[in-house]
Amino acid sequence: MSIRLRLALWYGGILALLLVLFGGALYGILQSSLLSGVDRTLSDTAAEVQSSVRLQVTVTGFNWAEAVTIPPLDVFAAPDVFVQVRYLNGSVAATSANLLGRQIPGLPTEEWSSVLSGTVDLRTVQEETVRVRVRSEPVLVNGQPVGVLQVAASLRSMDEALNRLFALLLAGGVVGLLLAVLGGAFLAQQALSPIARITDTARRIAATEDLGERLPHLAVQDEVGQLASTFNEMLDRLQRLFQGQQRFIADVSHELRTPLAAIRGNLEVLQRGAQADPALLQESLEDISREVTRLSRMVADLLALARAEAGVHLERRPVELDSLLLEVYREARHLARGVEVRLGGEDQAQVLGDADRLKQLLLNLVDNALKYTSAGGTVSLSLSRQDSWACLAVSDTGSGIPADDLPHVFERYYRGRTSPRRGGMGLGLSIAYWIAEEHGGRIVVESEMGKGSTFTVWLPLEGMVS
Ligand code: ADP
Repeated sequence: MSIRLRLALWYGGILALLLVLFGGALYGILQSSLLSGVDRTLSDTAAEVQSSVRLQVTVTGFNWAEAVTIPPLDVFAAPDVFVQVRYLNGSVAATSANLLGRQIPGLPTEEWSSVLSGTVDLRTVQEETVRVRVRSEPVLVNGQPVGVLQVAASLRSMDEALNRLFALLLAGGVVGLLLAVLGGAFLAQQALSPIARITDTARRIAATEDLGERLPHLAVQDEVGQLASTFNEMLDRLQRLFQGQQRFIADVSHELRTPLAAIRGNLEVLQRGAQADPALLQESLEDISREVTRLSRMVADLLALARAEAGVHLERRPVELDSLLLEVYREARHLARGVEVRLGGEDQAQVLGDADRLKQLLLNLVDNALKYTSAGGTVSLSLSRQDSWACLAVSDTGSGIPADDLPHVFERYYRGRTSPRRGGMGLGLSIAYWIAEEHGGRIVVESEMGKGSTFTVWLPLEGMVS
């Protein structure tokens, strides 16, 4: 069942319940107040009749007789109020003329006796098509019951008013309910239609695998508007990751092929007899060694990537950062082709970490610095201590990073727009970032186009790690 239908049904159900409760209460209150009005009229009329009943004593010579006189009942009757007096045996003694020969119904034996013993009986009886309210009470003379006074009123006009109210409540309730359910369904439809669009778009993307699709931006940023924006942001990210991954596969194969081709070329040179030429031999061996180093670093990066994705944590042992930086400096000089590599300030600093991974981090930074700095430029390495942190910096005087690229350079597979075709796999910085994070540290970058970049790695000193 759709949310729209469920909402409309819930809405309608609750409204119907409220209407029934409200209508029922209104009907009940009105009925009881009308009925008590009728009862009051009956009791007023009965009181008037009672006050007019007299005991008449007639004395003739030595004999006297007592007789109860009942006043003419028509005086008390009103168009809808009937009066009747019954003898103690139940037979009718007198009726008001407006009864037109009919009688107010008597009482069952039990109730009759209890009325004679002084209680007032109030009941509603059905007389043909009309309901009648009947009040029965004893007529007492000198404390003794001499008959039963019955006053009755027709409930026709009250019932008619109540029936009209019932019809009105029913019609109003049904129409109101219908309008509310339709209105609720319409509102739910309006509110949920963007969700239907999101579903359609998601379905289209799943069917066509086109991550370029986007939802139209919703002007109102309510919950659904935010959902649409979040969905679009997610698509942006997915698209970037997906494109990055596609390019990554192409780059990896290309990157692996290039050093292999260089090694093969040098081996062929050696096979063709380069041994005879010591200079050529030296050059070929150096080339092979450089390419093998590059290959090993690429494999190390791929391995680190796999570890990072598998959530593997690094081992931690004390590492002398100054010795590590020196090793990296030596390797960097070996890799630099016409770029001057400098070793700046070098404090002593020891951290807890994985020496191989930390070296990989620095080599990735240095490799980038060399890659994006043309011959004649400078790459500087330095190590300093600041409070409880070791601060490693790799600066270059290279091309710099465009401001648009800066926020993304640490993302996996991200390669800058200005990065050369043989730039790399877009992995180096993301792996460096992961390694720094694994050591409880971080990397920050500052860069200015045309002037160069500085990558600074902050690592907590040993004893400061939790
Ligand atoms: P890549 O394999 O492309 O070098 P990285 O993750 O190492 O991947 O770097 C990501 C991007 O950051 C590079 O494509 C490049 O645009 C930019 N970048 C990194 N280091 C530097 C630097 N020292 N100078 C200029 N740009 C850099």
